[in-house]
Amino acid sequence: MDSSEYIRLEETYGAHNYRPLDVVLTRGQGIWVWDVDGKRYLDCLSAYSAVNQGHCHPRIQAALMEQAGKLTLTSRAFRNDQLALFYKEICDLTRSHKVLPMNSGAEAVETVIKAVRKWGYQVKGVPHNQAEIIVCSNNFHGRTITIVGFSTDQPYREGFGPFTPGFKVIPFGNTDALENAITSNTVGFLVEPIQGEAGVIVPPPGYLARAKTICKKNNVVFILDEIQTGLGRTGKLLAEEHDRIEADLSIIGKALSGGFYPISAVLSNMEVLGVLRPGDHGSTFGGNPLACAVARMALKVLLEEGMIDNAAKMGDYLISQLRSIRSPNIKEVRGKGLLIGLELHPEAGGARRFCEALMKKGLLCKETHENTVRFAPPLIIGKEDIDWALEQIEPVFMQE
Ligand SMILES: *Cc1c(COP(=O)(O)O)cnc(C)c1O
Repeated sequence: MDSSEYIRLEETYGAHNYRPLDVVLTRGQGIWVWDVDGKRYLDCLSAYSAVNQGHCHPRIQAALMEQAGKLTLTSRAFRNDQLALFYKEICDLTRSHKVLPMNSGAEAVETVIKAVRKWGYQVKGVPHNQAEIIVCSNNFHGRTITIVGFSTDQPYREGFGPFTPGFKVIPFGNTDALENAITSNTVGFLVEPIQGEAGVIVPPPGYLARAKTICKKNNVVFILDEIQTGLGRTGKLLAEEHDRIEADLSIIGKALSGGFYPISAVLSNMEVLGVLRPGDHGSTFGGNPLACAVARMALKVLLEEGMIDNAAKMGDYLISQLRSIRSPNIKEVRGKGLLIGLELHPEAGGARRFCEALMKKGLLCKETHENTVRFAPPLIIGKEDIDWALEQIEPVFMQE
């Protein structure tokens, strides 16, 4: 079968809730993926930062295979050995007190919303059903009804109401707005350290540290969604480290399995998760031994193989090289580590056509919103491969 036939099948039988580039992938190794015609591409998206460790990392694959032959699912009706070891290792690594594992990022965000609301009623003393959570404009936290209900992006919401009440939206990067929005019923402030889906929007320096101080002063839980920024992507294990702070609750997902298996987790640095009692929350697959074994190895290779430092070094290099491209189409290059956005001028005709041109040259990139191209290759990329990528990238952005 050739790629046009696969595309026809997908378009015929699948819901059209994505608009993918017309490349049909069949194999991946490290930073590279291959399409069904055998053409090789450099993956510059890493499945939205889920494949930070590179495609089909051999050590993670081995851990998956080993555990798959031993025990895969117990449900949480019983305990399992991998869960306990995963808990201990992730809490030690992130200096957290408690952890709650789920499957997808959105589920972990939902978990946080439940936990901070309950904390608000039981610990802070907020009147019944009055809890408020503050979020930022242009946020991306997932796709469930509750989460899209506090999105400010029309296509994410339009046609899906009615929505869950109890959320307040303030501008991203603005601590005065945060201070003004807090009331005695505010239980949490949920924010991304860098807004990835919004187009790699980096807040002003010190923003997170100031926001954390404001939350602390007002007894509001400070929550970082690190599903995209976490696990080495920005050149630190968690992006909060750039501001030398610790969130009260952190949400991770995506690269927690190196792309092998859906697993997410809520990490708690104060006893917010302690308000949950048996029966309050759960998931059949959440914390299953296969996911936990995979996550343990995904974390291990991230640390042992120096991927976080590499992301910092290669990220600095790639950002500086992209900034040196003198193209009338480019408005700005921004980012941290290997989470990089290249924004085009509105007159450049949209990011999509550049992504299509990059694809022809062997680079897979995805536009975020209209005018930004994201560069987020696996964290194992070396300088020679970046130099090769830059040779492909430069002429594409110079074209009319
Ligand atoms: C991807 C993402 C999510 C949602 O994760 P899913 O696994 O797709 O549900 C939430 N927040 C951020 C910041 C993300 O990048």
